[in-house]
Amino acid sequence: MSGEKAPNPITREKFDAVLFDLDGVLTATAHVHATCWKKMFDEYLQNRKSRTGEPFQPFEITTDYRLYVDGKPRFDGVRDFLRSRGIKLSEGTPDDPPQTETVCGLGNRKNELINAVLESDGVEAYEGSLALIRQIRREGIEVAVVTSSQNCDAVLKAAGIANIFKVRVDGNVIHDQNLSGKPAPDGFLAAAKTLGVDPKRAVVVEDAISGVQAGRNGGFGLVIGVARKGDSDELRKHGADIIVKDLGELLD
Ligand SMILES: [Mg+2]
Repeated sequence: MSGEKAPNPITREKFDAVLFDLDGVLTATAHVHATCWKKMFDEYLQNRKSRTGEPFQPFEITTDYRLYVDGKPRFDGVRDFLRSRGIKLSEGTPDDPPQTETVCGLGNRKNELINAVLESDGVEAYEGSLALIRQIRREGIEVAVVTSSQNCDAVLKAAGIANIFKVRVDGNVIHDQNLSGKPAPDGFLAAAKTLGVDPKRAVVVEDAISGVQAGRNGGFGLVIGVARKGDSDELRKHGADIIVKDLGELLD
């Protein structure tokens, strides 16, 4: 390696828009999501053990979260993880109370936990991400946020970046428009369409396996994986064209 910095791949000649994931890409909220999922599932699995005698096998962030939950709409994450343990619950309905033993009830319990943490700890945006957004907007490239989160508005506001994105496709839009969540490309494709941009001339920026898969599945021009914790091989394997540890690496 020469040690020279690679040229910034996001150029105006090649691209018209960059579509950013939210948690873990723009804001430092990926870890709190992971720990809230773990708390919810471990409580549930412990509870099952006391009722059924099944051995307690904890929810692991490095494997279970990354493979079955990260980046997906909330109820898809619940269902996909439980399926991996051979547990099938009824779906319930989205307004199930958080203690209900249904897919929706468990998802709502996780949402209750995350809202409490966001409220008490606040939200921090990554400076490298904000600097990259300023750079690409100066060049006339559009930006959008595409997330499975139904808390997108609150998170953007808490991070002080609510006015940057004129196009947002969040968990509420995905639900209202009956789109499939990541790893389906629907959310990213909807954002590109709203911006009037050909997917081949758009960049997807993601930190989740399901997210880079969505970028690949949508035929986007470039998929950038953000591997803050050295999980670059996995992201590359599932569809990232290039990997950074922080988006500040892409500044000119
Ligand atoms: Mg993410």
